[in-house]
Amino acid sequence: MDIHEYQAKDLLRRFGVQVPRGGIAYSPEQAVYRASELSGDKWVVKAQIHSGARGKAGGVRICASEEEISDAAQWMLGRKLVTHQTGPRGKLVSRLYIEEATDIAQEIYLGFVMDRKEERVVVVASAEGGMEIEEISAREPDSIVRSVVDPAVGMQAFQAREIAFQLGLDPSLIAQAVKTITGCYRAMSELDANMVEINPMVVTRSGEIVALDAKLSFDDNALFRHPEISELRDKSQEDSRETFAEDRGLSYIGLDGRIGCIVNGAGLAMATLDMIKTAGGEPANFLDVGGGASPERVLMSFKAVLNDRNVEAILVNIFAGINRCDWIAEGVIRAVKELQLDMPLVVRLSGTNVEEGMRILAESGLNITTAETLADAAEKVVAAWKAADKQQAEAV
Ligand code: GDP
Ligand code: MN
Repeated sequence: MDIHEYQAKDLLRRFGVQVPRGGIAYSPEQAVYRASELSGDKWVVKAQIHSGARGKAGGVRICASEEEISDAAQWMLGRKLVTHQTGPRGKLVSRLYIEEATDIAQEIYLGFVMDRKEERVVVVASAEGGMEIEEISAREPDSIVRSVVDPAVGMQAFQAREIAFQLGLDPSLIAQAVKTITGCYRAMSELDANMVEINPMVVTRSGEIVALDAKLSFDDNALFRHPEISELRDKSQEDSRETFAEDRGLSYIGLDGRIGCIVNGAGLAMATLDMIKTAGGEPANFLDVGGGASPERVLMSFKAVLNDRNVEAILVNIFAGINRCDWIAEGVIRAVKELQLDMPLVVRLSGTNVEEGMRILAESGLNITTAETLADAAEKVVAAWKAADKQQAEAV
């Protein structure tokens, strides 16, 4: 689960990390009022969405007057901000964070992630902050400092000090940097976060270390231990297709293509996405119906797939072990009838009760294309989708 920047800053502050003063606003008037509460003569208006790279998309604006604040707020609020992390759909801005502006002398990258190979938390830092870490590692690979934390003892002060020195920080800043780095680590481990990113952590002109941006991501499986963090969830920032499926117990991930997929088993589901791409199509989603899927569950999967308005064809790919092809076939037929499906549908069944399943599909009299193998199914669905697309283009 992700949270907003201002929420992350509130949490980090409790762990001794220094952050700028700020306040939340839902309207331009409130934004101006927040700035007046902060006093000073420069403020930053920041769109609160679950995405980084807001700056380049116009979601971070430095303002020097009430008018500028009001203009920035009006521009941002209600806008779907598209950053290169949000995907083409963008994310709706409904809250702003108004902060006192900071005079920056240097921007540093500081990240804490779970490294699966090391099976430990790894701290990644770079004196070339501001950019995203992928960009930094491409442009300035030598600037990247890495440090692995031993979970038995946690992050030690000497380790944080070493990172600070490797970043080339002035000796007068080391104590503050250590406080920030160890504070972030404690927040990560005590709150069961699986990612903490401070980008940038800045050195100010007055010689302070401040977390200017903050991103915290939590382990969903540990949220039951942190009700106060579960409350920070903002479903409006999540993919509505995924929320719909998740609320119905389906394992679903939204993608950007046109071909909806209903598959059993995560591995087969991923292979199916690959095969669709190989056949020249783009999958709209990953969906694993799971084992022993009832006709109701299959129907629900269709609803989840069709909840995505981009879907123009559907591929059902089942390799039944504990599943039963006859149940799947019944579910497919119910879905076609109840949802009045009017797009190409390709079904590939294999395994338990396959003859029965194929018979049910054949006898239904419905317009369903069947396939023998995964490759065959992927080719058929892509071909059918392209044909339907062409037909529609000609009709227009
Ligand atoms: P992001 O684009 O979503 O990562 O948003 P950030 O909060 O990281 O802001 C983007 C960039 O805006 C930062 O890297 C800074 O260069 C700049 N910025 C943000 N806040 C301030 C501020 O208070 N003062 C100054 N001078 N620049 C800021
Ligand atoms: Mn940032």
